[in-house]
Amino acid sequence: ALTCGIVGLPNVGKSTLFNAITQAGIAAENYPFCTIEPNVGLVNVPDPRLQALAEIVKPQHVVPATMEFVDIAGLVAGAAQGEGLGNQFLAHIRETDAIALVTRCFADPNVVHVSGHVDPVADLEVVLTELILADLSTVEKAQARVARQAKGGHKDAVAELAAMTRLLPHLDEGKPAASLDLNREERDHLRSLCLLTMKPLMVIANVAEDALREGPWRAPLEAWAVARQASVVPVCAAIESDLAELEPEEQRAFLQDLGLEEPGLNRIIRAAYRLLGLQTYFTAGVKEVRAWTIPVGATAPQAAGVIHSDFERGFIRAQTIAYADFLRYKGEHGAKEAGKMRAEGKEYVVQDGDVLNFLFNV
Ligand code: GDP
Repeated sequence: ALTCGIVGLPNVGKSTLFNAITQAGIAAENYPFCTIEPNVGLVNVPDPRLQALAEIVKPQHVVPATMEFVDIAGLVAGAAQGEGLGNQFLAHIRETDAIALVTRCFADPNVVHVSGHVDPVADLEVVLTELILADLSTVEKAQARVARQAKGGHKDAVAELAAMTRLLPHLDEGKPAASLDLNREERDHLRSLCLLTMKPLMVIANVAEDALREGPWRAPLEAWAVARQASVVPVCAAIESDLAELEPEEQRAFLQDLGLEEPGLNRIIRAAYRLLGLQTYFTAGVKEVRAWTIPVGATAPQAAGVIHSDFERGFIRAQTIAYADFLRYKGEHGAKEAGKMRAEGKEYVVQDGDVLNFLFNV
């Protein structure tokens, strides 16, 4: 499964958020077949469409999509030189598929700030610089190795070396790898390096309770993020932590008091899901209405393969109803009558929200 790493300086609220996410999420004991490390949280992806489908189909079970967050502690300035948890920390980030940078926007005299004062953009710069330095060292090492292969006349190595030679000065200027306009081939050549700053990035702004929508944090942080193709999700970790402790009823009342529609965690989870390039299709039977996760761009057989590899191998076609049609015509029967059920073949690229039913050979 694809994972989103939660990264940031100490004392910015990472663990508080991560704990809220996992508390609100799924207990690992419900998933006996996957080893979940203590710092890995499996969470349900909140999706109001599931409820809407369930009201029509009235299934016995409703199963949401899930995704994984990893709490990656230990980043301090100098990590790329081995400070703090250094390399170990960087290795953990390398294994993730996207990065959520948590930055502290709340002032609290009781919570020590590592650099003495609250400056979310400066903190993000410290973190990003460490990631860039780590990439710089990765590329330098690889370059030396690949240069030897290139001398030996290895064709791929020559192209790889060229891509690295373009990337190095870019990193050296303090810019993330993702912002270099690499073509597809260059990207492929660099993929095996698992560069940290090539991963998609989002910013979680941990703001004060009274500054959820507006505050001095907003303008500079958004400018920083936009320049790095990242989105900003503001959240108050303290509130999320309180919310996660409550029963659904109490939670609704608390949210209403705060003038919020839903926990901020929902926005974080959805943003991370998008960041990972994931989307959802549904199956809607009387036994179970279920959300399934696929990469954006997946074809119908690939989508079927998420349920079972046999479905992919023996794929014949996918009976397909767009989510909006399923709703408008109140279910499969109505949609079919209205001519809104399509038979899609092997080439069909599944759309977000499609309600699918697979026909396959066993
Ligand atoms: P981490 O080191 O980034 O994992 O940070 P923690 O989640 O352990 O938080 C560090 C301290 O900041 C703890 O004492 C938290 O209770 C506190 N904290 C976290 N989020 C908030 C917040 O939104 N508001 C306030 N006032 N304190 C917070």
